[in-house]
Amino acid sequence: MSFFGNVQLAPPVAVFKLSADFRADENPKKINLGVGAYRDDDGKPWVLPVVSKVEKQIALDSSLNHEYLPIKGLPEFCDAATKLALGESKCVSEDRAAGVQTLSGTGALRLAADFLFQTFPAETTVLYSNPTWGNHLDIFKRAGFKNLAPYSYWSGDIKAADVSKFVSDLEAAPDRSIILFHSCAHNPTGADPSAEQWEQLAQVVRAKNHFPIFDTAYQGFASGNPDKDAAALRSFADAGFEMMICQSFAKNFGLYNERCGNLVTITQTAQILDNVRSQQELIVRANYSNPPAHGARIVSTVLNTPELNAEWRQNIKEMSDRIDLMRNELRSRLEKLGTPGQWNHVTDQIGMFSFTGLNPDQCNFLKNERSCYLMSNGRISMAGLNSKNIDYFAQCVDEAVR
Ligand code: PLP
Repeated sequence: MSFFGNVQLAPPVAVFKLSADFRADENPKKINLGVGAYRDDDGKPWVLPVVSKVEKQIALDSSLNHEYLPIKGLPEFCDAATKLALGESKCVSEDRAAGVQTLSGTGALRLAADFLFQTFPAETTVLYSNPTWGNHLDIFKRAGFKNLAPYSYWSGDIKAADVSKFVSDLEAAPDRSIILFHSCAHNPTGADPSAEQWEQLAQVVRAKNHFPIFDTAYQGFASGNPDKDAAALRSFADAGFEMMICQSFAKNFGLYNERCGNLVTITQTAQILDNVRSQQELIVRANYSNPPAHGARIVSTVLNTPELNAEWRQNIKEMSDRIDLMRNELRSRLEKLGTPGQWNHVTDQIGMFSFTGLNPDQCNFLKNERSCYLMSNGRISMAGLNSKNIDYFAQCVDEAVR
């Protein structure tokens, strides 16, 4: 008799299933708007030119080897990544902020969740955005948290973030809750709080003694400038909060499968930080022992070399400009076609995604009848659109909506 006879078949992970369905589709007009991965104007994955350049250097560098990295990762990577998030915030120079290298953004979130679960009371409430990235809930649940609750974020009526409801939900939450923020380029809605709204959020976090944790998977994609996109992080850090930042280099370096990320922790004192990182180190040790080197070498070489750093910023700008262009092109086509509804949100939103407002039936029509693969909540990855497929997509949306 099998030990596993009672194991149920798990449902597929939606976004990966969508990509598999897309691959199996033989329609030459098919479009993949599901996965949040950048594509160039030919619909192809883009290896950033600066990344290719550094990979060639790494291949020729005979001083490199395949020895284990330290458990907390490549120090020069963690320091550069932390600085990318925090800039000149004084918590860095005061040794109150530092990173642990992680398995991309997901690994940073999981390490944070595991550490917080071992440190906070078990009944602590974790508040997450409604809607949010599909994995947030599972990560915190699997870390052990039982009290998870959504905070209001998106308003379908105004097709924008309703920050006043967001603030009141944080006010109503138990004191000392953990609040999971998207630092910029909110996934899936493409709508971020303004600087004033972040200030309001900071006030309620302070008043309620909440613990802020920021998911930073798209730094550079909101404005095209990684420093501007770090404004919320830096304002919280400068305001003196203890907090965490979960960084991913999947999107802004195009290093999706290298699993390169960083968990930044900011504490009140350098001594507390050492203690916290020593515990995080034990969690890493018991999970996967130490992280992979390739992505971290690339990112640290780029961030620590001024010319390469400048080139990387250009590469990000190129991605974010192409996405912006697609937003404008899609909106103008829908308006030209007279597609029922307002389409200004397509250009108002920022980052990699547009939360189109298409309902599940319309999404199913697009997927099943027109081979346009998008998430059933109406989210599209703008990077899936290009000059060759945008006419077709706009026509299909028009049909779906009428
Ligand atoms: N957070 C958000 C909001 C995301 O959209 C993603 C990826 O899509 C991640 C985190 C983590 O990505 P990765 O683990 O590939 O870095």
